Amino acid sequence: MSATLYKGYEMVIGLEVHCELRTRTKIFCSCPTDFGAEPNTQCCPVCMGLPGTLPVLNRKVVDYAVKAGLATNCTIANYSKQDRKNYFYPDLPKAYQISQYDLPLCEHGWLDIEVDGGADGESVSKRIGITRIHIEEDAGKLVHDAEKGTLIDCNRCGVPLIEIVSEPDIRSSAEAVAYVRKLRSILLYTGVSDCRMQEGSLRCDVNLSVRKAGETAFGTRTEMKNINSFTFIQRAIDFEYKRQVDALESGETITQETRRFDPNTGKTSCMRKKEDANDYRYFPDPDLPPIRLSDEVIGALRAEIPVLPDERKTQYMQRYGLTAYDAEQLTSSRELADYFESCAAKTDYPKLLANLFLAEIFRLLPPEFGVEDLRADPAHLASVAQLMGDGTVNSGTAKKLACEVWKEDIDPVAAVAERGLAQMNDPAVITEWVRQALEESPKLVADYRAGKTKAASALIGRAMAKSQGKANPVLLGHIAMELLQE
Ligand SMILES: [Zn+2]
Repeated sequence: MSATLYKGYEMVIGLEVHCELRTRTKIFCSCPTDFGAEPNTQCCPVCMGLPGTLPVLNRKVVDYAVKAGLATNCTIANYSKQDRKNYFYPDLPKAYQISQYDLPLCEHGWLDIEVDGGADGESVSKRIGITRIHIEEDAGKLVHDAEKGTLIDCNRCGVPLIEIVSEPDIRSSAEAVAYVRKLRSILLYTGVSDCRMQEGSLRCDVNLSVRKAGETAFGTRTEMKNINSFTFIQRAIDFEYKRQVDALESGETITQETRRFDPNTGKTSCMRKKEDANDYRYFPDPDLPPIRLSDEVIGALRAEIPVLPDERKTQYMQRYGLTAYDAEQLTSSRELADYFESCAAKTDYPKLLANLFLAEIFRLLPPEFGVEDLRADPAHLASVAQLMGDGTVNSGTAKKLACEVWKEDIDPVAAVAERGLAQMNDPAVITEWVRQALEESPKLVADYRAGKTKAASALIGRAMAKSQGKANPVLLGHIAMELLQE
């Protein structure tokens, strides 16, 4: 790995990802789980934890958690149980959360990510271990109101979650982001969650420690809670890494604690000293029987898992000649991959189409897009790649056309005819554009001839501008170099 070290220290990261499952009802009662409802309109005596009520486990929660486990190569337990995790906080009316302690539903999984560091700028594949996946219930939400003070909304109490705990295999913020992206992609493919980070249905706790490169013992770690965007994950990690290294270098010790990341300042600060597991006084929930799953039931759930991103990625590398990294990007969302394939089927140049997606379309997509954002007619995008592959337009024009198709769904063939965007391949015409550009920039020509080779690309840019971006770029480059040698 080529992660650059800060003052000779490496970071060691393990992630705990909490993901709300896409069930219609809560984990132990029949209250709905819809996001954004009026506060305290989706609760009942069970999820409010009133005395005398009894929880009944939602079967769908187990099905979804098992699917998440199978899709991340976990072993599924035939026997697991649910435990009470006791702590006092105003958003937890029962004063305990039902979770799983020593016998989780899924263990010993892994997923692969693509990270920088290969030869020739290629990415390399890295495997991140998954320690366990367990089911648990979400807590409520505190709403801080300037006038009314702090209010409690119990709608989220009892919304089903899975917690996915990684091994401490992650060594940079880029790897952490790649891991969460991949995990999100797998969970979306399997359909167990909508993974909307902005709504908090996928959020991440980061455990981070540092140690001198080459050491094998772990340093003291801190935990940053509930980070809900890729950018925040990256910024929180980069800040906390440097903070810990600087503290150690100036002779301080790191305290095990929970820290809050503030996106406004980009800094982390202490929230509370970290509890150890025994502070939670875990014990088996006496109201819930153990979860027993036969191999037949697990096999039936396995049969429902669709083609996953990694398999599709391999297909794309073979079918379209893409690099692992590019194929990973295009298959990260099932909807996007379906859409890309419907475009690719309509052109003889799917690799050029893939490049247009990666270079242009990805920039125009919102961070958490859905199928409603994939509106442009696939035939129109396909014909941009076709025009470029046929040599009708150059790559610069193709990129502009792809953006226009994406935003306004124009017909690119008609646009090329109406606006005269066809690529110019006539050497005589191109020579004239280059001559004009050289005549108008004697300083750049002199610079080039004095050995400043960079001046050539500026001159080529000016000649291309003379052609209004339509010249065949390869031909124009050759002609410019010939004229400059004169
Ligand atoms: Zn309820």
